Amino acid sequence: MIQYVALVCRLSPRSDREYEGVDLQERWGRAYAAEKWPGVPIEVFADAGISAANDDYRPEFERFREWLNSGKIAHVWAVEQARVERREVEWFRLAAEMEAAGVHELDTNRDGVVRVRDAVAGIKAVLNADEVRKLKKRHRDRLNENAADGKPPGSKPFGYAHAKNADGVKTYVLVPEQAEAIRQAAEWVLSGWSLANIARELRKRGLRGAHGGEISAGSVRSFLTSRTITGVRVYQGRVVGPGNWPAIIDEPTSQAVRLKLSQPRRVTRSDGRTHEITLQAVPTGRRYLLTGGLAVCGLCKAPLRATVKQLRHGDRPYYECSPKKRQPNGDPGCGRIGIVGLPLEAHVVDRLFTKLDTPAFLDAIAADDHGARRDRLTDALADVERQRNELAAEWAVPGALTMSEWQTARRGLAEQEQKLRRELADVPPPVVNVDVAGAREAWPGLTLDEKREFLRMFIGTVTIKRARPGLKTFDTKRVEIDWRKR
Ligand SMILES: [Zn+2]
Repeated sequence: MIQYVALVCRLSPRSDREYEGVDLQERWGRAYAAEKWPGVPIEVFADAGISAANDDYRPEFERFREWLNSGKIAHVWAVEQARVERREVEWFRLAAEMEAAGVHELDTNRDGVVRVRDAVAGIKAVLNADEVRKLKKRHRDRLNENAADGKPPGSKPFGYAHAKNADGVKTYVLVPEQAEAIRQAAEWVLSGWSLANIARELRKRGLRGAHGGEISAGSVRSFLTSRTITGVRVYQGRVVGPGNWPAIIDEPTSQAVRLKLSQPRRVTRSDGRTHEITLQAVPTGRRYLLTGGLAVCGLCKAPLRATVKQLRHGDRPYYECSPKKRQPNGDPGCGRIGIVGLPLEAHVVDRLFTKLDTPAFLDAIAADDHGARRDRLTDALADVERQRNELAAEWAVPGALTMSEWQTARRGLAEQEQKLRRELADVPPPVVNVDVAGAREAWPGLTLDEKREFLRMFIGTVTIKRARPGLKTFDTKRVEIDWRKR
């Protein structure tokens, strides 16, 4: 079997905040190998952009271990020992693997030749780990200080770019087209679009992610659920205060969006069993656009049901009043109304988009009558969060609370939060500036549930009146749309 010299390289920060590139390390390694092991083939294992101080998965490093364990490695070189593995336990594991593979030495430029099983190696690894801990602590302390000052984190989020303000303090400035995309995406989420559709639409408009990557459903979720875009500073998962940068969307909108996107949550009940609460509109499984109470009978007001009916041109969707449905007064539906489905659906969508072109209608929609209620619920939710933090602080004090007191209090808060979130979900979302052109263009690509939700934002009911005798074609005069007033 051919055995190789393994050059293990990885990007790592230097003291001057620059990085020592992996290609530079590779050059040094090749020079070293050419001199010490002339003629032995070289295999490079280079993890660019990944720090061994974190528990990040290092694919190239894992590949190196595979080669090592299958006996393909004769010699190992790295620029320094810490570049191979900083963490104690992992270093000892690797040392054992190298030993087992018959590689007794690690060649380095900076630490000389390290005998892998030597105590020296172990102690060096411990020292390295200690350095890492100190570095991390320094980093954390600085983060904490920065966070308290409302300075932005070092990462570059979608929507913003790094900058310095007039006083030379680090801040974020808006990237206008990205900020606009965030506002747009928030509105789309509130109008019921799926993340995949939003991502597709943004890609179509030529947008790229914060670091130039392709926008995916996941990236849309991540920038929409980020608190940074509401202008607040988050540290270790908690809001620590206002940031020194401008918000892209306001807090109520962000709440509504995050609520809409929130995953089903697992909740432990008082009897100890768990169940899932879903805070998000679940797919209804409906197969027709106007069922579920949108289309109603013009004679008895019962919701129409949809079936497939054999018509002149074959099997077609058909909406009809049925005794299986109930009138508002509880009586069975009269069963005296029926209408062909596809022309009806097309007509309703058509009317909606025509309506959306009228400025007066859009103004009426934009008038938000639910702001006060939404604010009250948002405040109450923030209050629950505050109480939860206080409770956690109290729990941390030995003897302040018994286990059962703590659990009871926590359960109480969870129930309160659930109730508030349900209530908030009932408040119509603060939708302004409906992007009519965008919705129209995206329409064919929307799922049925998304279409239904969009219609429901604007339409209360679609009342189907009696057919005029003798008229065989689809009659638009039978369709009366009751537009939602918000
Ligand atoms: Zn009826």
